[in-house]
Amino acid sequence: MILKKKNLKRNLIYMLFVLFFLLLNNEIFSLPSESFVNLKYVEKEIKAGIDFKWEIDEIVISKNGRQIKIFLNFPYIISDEYQKKIDIPPFSDGGAIFISQYTFEQLVQLLNEEIKQSSEVLQKEIKEQKKQEVAQETVIQPQITKIIDIKEEKKIVVKENSVIKKEPTIEVLPTSTNQIKKQIRILVFDPGHGGNDPGAIGPNGVQEKDIVLDITLRIIKYLKKENFKIYLTRDDDNFISLKGRAIFANEKNADLFISIHCNASRDRGAQGIRTYIYNRVASSREAAEAAKLENKNVGVFEMLLNDLRKSAFEYLSIEAAGNIQHSLVKNLRLKWTPTERAPFYVLANTNMPSVLVEAAFISNPQEEKKLNDNDFREKIAQSISEGIIEYFSRLK
Ligand SMILES: [Zn+2]
Repeated sequence: MILKKKNLKRNLIYMLFVLFFLLLNNEIFSLPSESFVNLKYVEKEIKAGIDFKWEIDEIVISKNGRQIKIFLNFPYIISDEYQKKIDIPPFSDGGAIFISQYTFEQLVQLLNEEIKQSSEVLQKEIKEQKKQEVAQETVIQPQITKIIDIKEEKKIVVKENSVIKKEPTIEVLPTSTNQIKKQIRILVFDPGHGGNDPGAIGPNGVQEKDIVLDITLRIIKYLKKENFKIYLTRDDDNFISLKGRAIFANEKNADLFISIHCNASRDRGAQGIRTYIYNRVASSREAAEAAKLENKNVGVFEMLLNDLRKSAFEYLSIEAAGNIQHSLVKNLRLKWTPTERAPFYVLANTNMPSVLVEAAFISNPQEEKKLNDNDFREKIAQSISEGIIEYFSRLK
């Protein structure tokens, strides 16, 4: 009996040792149906230089003067003369980047051999892929509540722990004859995150999703007397994908899309309010980080395709953002900061002038406290609504 116990103990120690050894050698690991290769192993095996551009999730692999780019969560290998779709996009896990066995083989082949496939054929492949993506998009129906008008003010209670309770009193009112005469503007408000996505969380636990929903509901309170038809991408604590939000705004044919978020930075001292419009290249490092944080796992190339289309709305987006920023800076007595530009997914994919407001840094303890304060959120909401009214009054 004693001997058996000893054996059991020895076996356990042996198993732990094997497990530890396996963890140390995590260069290659397998999922049930697929093998993945750690990019560090690629560096050693192919003897290629690997350069990361974290702001745009791009990885440049170079050898003998040839450069090949791969992208986190984007299924293409791209070089100057070559674009190839791969089976599974590169992904990061536990601080390391993994590529599929297939991608690995393609890289080895590309870096060591002549390029055989003509780029024309591959361009066609990409076009077909795009067609598929468009077809998929039309199928998606986000669960979004439609709001046409609000009968009475919503009572929003923000407790100290920032849980928001509200009375759902949204009703559709008959359109008055006066409203028909005036031009009705369609606004889509997009409070970020929701449901199982809390957004950024402050050092004292305040969650971005609660703050931005509350601010949005306060904004529409100011706008209901104006000639606006207002829709929200969410009016409760539900998760909606970035794609779903953009599709919703496009379906509504909005005149202006306004996304509301809170900023977060590794720098605890970062502070202030920012307004953003879309640009493929971020206007600052901070802007790049903000977009990366909000975009989560959306592939950067999904946005690049929208550059041309989006440029048509650039002027109006600048105007709208400028009016909102001016109003915020004036009312909250902030130091002037110009409108920033960054590749936010929801801005890139909405076919209309669009603005994203980062209302203070939730990562900054002082600003987190402010964001948790009713009066501060009310002021932000009032300022944003004034900026929107000013923007449309100038358009007339
Ligand atoms: Zn956010």
